[in-house]
Amino acid sequence: MSVQEQIETLIQKFPIFEYGFLKPSQIEFSEKVRTICRTECSRYNTSWSCPPAVGSVETCRKRCLEWQDAFFFSTVHEVSNVMDLKEGARTRSSHEELTDRIEQSIRALGLQTWRLSGDSCNVCERCAWPDTPCRFPDRMHPCIEGQGILVAKLAELCGMDYYLDAGTQLWFSLIFYKRSSHTKQ
Ligand code: SF4
Repeated sequence: MSVQEQIETLIQKFPIFEYGFLKPSQIEFSEKVRTICRTECSRYNTSWSCPPAVGSVETCRKRCLEWQDAFFFSTVHEVSNVMDLKEGARTRSSHEELTDRIEQSIRALGLQTWRLSGDSCNVCERCAWPDTPCRFPDRMHPCIEGQGILVAKLAELCGMDYYLDAGTQLWFSLIFYKRSSHTKQ
């Protein structure tokens, strides 16, 4: 069974809405996404998981290209108004917990992983940036868009929905993976 088939088997027990597999070289990076981070996101310059701490878009692109494959998935959550960011944020923790479990399951296959999430890292109540190093570098999860990645394009590439309707919140995660030297092919 291929690694992709193994992952498809293990995710059957998780409440994933849609998913796809892709090569890191297929991912589109854009300076425009970074501009939106800088000008519109309240998390900019507040976390080790976001710009500027994560480095330039080119640095992020090179980091992503070090991985062999990526697994992209979404979860779906009922909300009264998808434009209400506070309400949407309340649905995030269950998505992140699910992402943790999926990442652990992929690691249990003997694969190395690196995970990006739909928002900045929420492991600590208050991020250590910029005064002290990240407290949990093994658990921290950068934001997908903070890497300069166009999430809508990722969804399109994988044949997934990026938006459903005003009463539905979609959260996305991207888990890069590669074989450890001891993993069977
Ligand atoms: S683990 Fe804590 S210190 Fe590290 S990026 Fe996340 S919130 Fe910040």
